[in-house]
Amino acid sequence: MNETQKNSILVIDDNTTNIMLLHRILAEEYTVFAVKSGSEGIKIALKQLPDIILLDIVMPDMDGFEVLSALKNEDDTRHIPVIFISGLNDHESEEKGLLLGASDYITKPFSPGIVRLRVANQITIFNQMKTIEKLSMIDGLTQIPNRRKAEVVLNMEWQRAIVAGHTISILMIDIDHFKNVNDTYGHLYGDTVIKQVATGIKSSLKRSTDFVARWGGEEFIALLPEISALDAVKIAERIRKKLGNFNRRGSDEKVKITVSIGVYTNFPTDSFNVFHYIEQADQALYRAKRNGRNRTEHYLNSEDVAVFLSGG
Ligand code: GH3
Ligand code: MG
Ligand code: MG
Repeated sequence: MNETQKNSILVIDDNTTNIMLLHRILAEEYTVFAVKSGSEGIKIALKQLPDIILLDIVMPDMDGFEVLSALKNEDDTRHIPVIFISGLNDHESEEKGLLLGASDYITKPFSPGIVRLRVANQITIFNQMKTIEKLSMIDGLTQIPNRRKAEVVLNMEWQRAIVAGHTISILMIDIDHFKNVNDTYGHLYGDTVIKQVATGIKSSLKRSTDFVARWGGEEFIALLPEISALDAVKIAERIRKKLGNFNRRGSDEKVKITVSIGVYTNFPTDSFNVFHYIEQADQALYRAKRNGRNRTEHYLNSEDVAVFLSGG
C-alpha cells in the first residue's frame, strides 16, 4: 500500500510517552500525526481532516471532552470518529464521552493489540461510510455524478459565485426523440447511447470547474462558472455538434443521435437560488424542442446574449 492510500490518524495527547507508544503501534498501517494540546488538536483536525482522532481527556488547556464538543460543532470535523484514550477509568467518564459523540473509549494503560483492533474497527466503518457516500453520488449507468451530487455542487458553486461576483451558466441537455431510439433499437442500445452522450459531454468540457451530471433519464445538466452568455452558447454548440453519429454496436448501421440544449447565464444573488436558473435553462430547452430540436437556445434573446458582459 503506498503512502497516499493510508488512512490518517491524529493523536491529541499532552504526554509524549503516550504519543510515542501510539505512534509505534499504529504507524506501520496508518499515517499518524500528533499534537500535545486540545486547542492545537482542533486546529490541525480542521486543517488536515484526519480519518480518525485518538483523544486524551486530562490535558492542561482544554480537556478532551471540550475538544470533542468543539469538533462536533464544526461541519468539517463532526463526522470524524473520535476514540478517547484516557486514564479516567470510571464509568461516568466513559458514559460522558460516549454521550458527547465519541465512537469508542479505551482506558490507560492500554493494550497495543486492543488499540490496534479498536482503531481498525473505526477505520473500517469510516471507509465503508466513504464508499457509500461516493456511490450515492454517482450515476450507476454512466458513472458520472447523479442528480443528488449535482444539487450539492450547484448550491456550492452558487454560493461561491455570489462571494466572487462571477457568473454561472446552466446547460440542460436532452436527447432528441430518445423514445424512438429505445423503440427502434431496444433499451440496451438506448443505455449505450446515454453512456456515450455522458462521455461526449464530459470530454467537451475543458475547465476543472466545469461540472456535468445526469439529471434524469436522458437529460443532463452542466454548470459552467465564470463565462459570458455568449461563451456558454458556444460551448453548448460544441457539445451539440460533438454528439453526432453513433455506430450501432455489432453492425455498420449508423444511428443519428441529436440533443437539444437550453442555456441560462447570470450573476447569482441572494434573492434567488440555483433552482431558479435551472428553471430558466429548462424553459430555453423547451424552446429548443419547439423550434425543431438539434439546437441550442439561450433563455435570453440573441441580442441580449451578444451584449451580456460586453458592456454594450
Ligand atoms: P424529446 O425529443 O421531446 O426529448 O423526446 P424524447 O422521446 O427524447 O422524450 P421523452 O421524455 O418522451 O422520452 C424519454 C425516453 O427516455 C423515455 C424513457 O423510456 C427513456 N429513458 C429514460 N431513462 C432511460 C435509461 O436509463 N435507459 C434507456 N434506454 N432509456 C431511458
Ligand atoms: Mg428527450
Ligand atoms: Mg427528457
